[in-house]
Amino acid sequence: MKLIFLGPPGAGKGTLAGFVSKEYTIPQISTGDIFRDAIKRETDLGKKVKEIVGRGDLVPDELTVSLVRERLDQPDAAGGYILDGFPRTIPQAGELDKFQTIDAVINFSITDKAVIERLSGREVCKSCGAIYNVKNMPSRVKGVCDKCGGALYTRPDDTLESITNRLDVYKKQTEPLISYYRKKKLLRDVDSSKTPEETMTQIRKILGKSK
Ligand code: ADP
Repeated sequence: MKLIFLGPPGAGKGTLAGFVSKEYTIPQISTGDIFRDAIKRETDLGKKVKEIVGRGDLVPDELTVSLVRERLDQPDAAGGYILDGFPRTIPQAGELDKFQTIDAVINFSITDKAVIERLSGREVCKSCGAIYNVKNMPSRVKGVCDKCGGALYTRPDDTLESITNRLDVYKKQTEPLISYYRKKKLLRDVDSSKTPEETMTQIRKILGKSK
């Protein structure tokens, strides 16, 4: 099962990709996580993309595509995967088409207002990447991950300025992918304004039962 999760920032792609990855035992490949990890480890890639990611702009297509291509060559991706946050532009999608056949594109829809509310309260676990929200999905103990006990932090690009820019970038550069994949009859819509569990129920209906 080769899947793409498409949608604006804050739509819940990362949270749901985590659920789907576990239930259907396919890896979650998040370009955002790859970039954040490189920034944290201060690798050459990290140094290159730090400012771009902080502003909420897109990393150049060529760099992003070559990273994804390398990742998809890993043996664990042979049986399927979830691409979370890729492709984000028409050229990225065109390149992906040259070397992969995608089974479905899950399109997460949500209003701008809800996105801003979610992202401005988001917290992420430093160790396992689990996602919380101080307002509507808090951890049991403040600042501590329920799943692994790791410390929670606020992403540096979850400032109001960067969130607004990411929404803008999404509309200009990523939203055209909706009609791109609709034309290919791959698009499956989910309403992600509800709880993650409710969104998961919709996704299960689309994907069918796990093995
Ligand atoms: P979001 O919560 O905004 O969906 P992600 O974790 O998916 O965030 O991505 C964080 C940042 O990483 C983006 O704002 C962008 O700078 C960079 N990034 C992630 N995926 C891509 C991509 N496919 N193309 C270009 N830049 C990307």
